[in-house]
Amino acid sequence: MTKNIEEIFEKAGAILKGHFLLTSGLHSPVYWEKFKVLQSPPPTEQLCRLIADHFREQKIQVVAAPTTGGIILAFETARQLGVRGIFAEKTGEKERAFKRGFNIEPGERVLIVDDILTTGGSLRQTMAAVKKLGGEIIGIGVMVDRSEQEMDLGVPLFSCLRAEAVTYPPEDCPLCKAKVPLVKPGGG
Ligand SMILES: [Zn+2]
Repeated sequence: MTKNIEEIFEKAGAILKGHFLLTSGLHSPVYWEKFKVLQSPPPTEQLCRLIADHFREQKIQVVAAPTTGGIILAFETARQLGVRGIFAEKTGEKERAFKRGFNIEPGERVLIVDDILTTGGSLRQTMAAVKKLGGEIIGIGVMVDRSEQEMDLGVPLFSCLRAEAVTYPPEDCPLCKAKVPLVKPGGG
């Protein structure tokens, strides 16, 4: 299974090799360009099905995600579960909120989804936004878990693929020492 999932990303050209500056400030020889996969409905549908199937018996009522890739995941996972899919947008440096008329009724059973888990920052912000509206967080589903240590977010976490990231602090980066040009990828 793991092999197949990794192949989806490889085939889509989503696993870039080089010298990358991550949003955390760390450097890495690998970057996963998730939109290489998310631009194509079939692999996106396949990954969301794994998440939807994992939580299918949990009576999920809303699927919620942080922007930007999460919008696509929330929509597709929600479609497969037959429920609403909503997304939380940045409202500050470390804050997110549901805008655009989105609502969660107190006690509604919420599944949170996201594309790539690294530091867990956007997931935590989305969890806080759900709790603020009184939603009950049943679990979290991500496409790829790239966190360095397995993360405890306080609710069950399901990942389609676990692929631990290799990162270096800038002052201790072998690629910097080898003078490989540093690239800042993604939309950040
Ligand atoms: Zn470096």
